[in-house]
Amino acid sequence: MSEVKFGRGGIPDWLEPMVRFCSRCGVELTFGQIEGEERDRLACPSCGFVFYVNPRLVVTTLPITDRGEVMLIRRGIAPGYDMWAQPGGFLEIDETVREAAVRETLEETGLQIEPLEIIGLYSRVQAAVVVVAYEARIVGGEPRVTHESRETRPFAPEAIPWPQIAFETSVLAIRDWVARVRPDLPLPDPSTIHRDFGA
Ligand SMILES: [Zn+2]
Repeated sequence: MSEVKFGRGGIPDWLEPMVRFCSRCGVELTFGQIEGEERDRLACPSCGFVFYVNPRLVVTTLPITDRGEVMLIRRGIAPGYDMWAQPGGFLEIDETVREAAVRETLEETGLQIEPLEIIGLYSRVQAAVVVVAYEARIVGGEPRVTHESRETRPFAPEAIPWPQIAFETSVLAIRDWVARVRPDLPLPDPSTIHRDFGA
């Protein structure tokens, strides 16, 4: 993905084709004032349906080993193919955030985890997501290769492969975790972190 541009309503360009027509009646949406609304919105000129476009929640975990290392996966799919990230994915409509944390971690790593404290919550408007990162205790399972992960392996706080971390929000979450557990270590400057794809 190249540099993201924002169109009407602040909608990222890659998302625009998905919000062009009314999902209720199929008529092309128009953009403008809606009675009682503070900002201009997409709405259907035929049936009046107002189309709210909001970020989605991505639920991720930092599974921590008994030795205090974080388990990361080498991604097997785009975006961020072959780079490192924590396990995670989109919250499904019928599950809680904690359930999603457990499910995504198991799917992508083979590890059973128990979510602990939230490390942080990270907005990424270019990707239209909010990413939550849980610290997690590993309670079972074995690391395994999956469709989405080519490798799962532990990294000590001082051995994080910062330039090979896939996403800006992953850098921020891992950075916040390292700052907690090893405040003595140098951290990457957030202003120097730039990834033009994904979260
Ligand atoms: Zn309509």
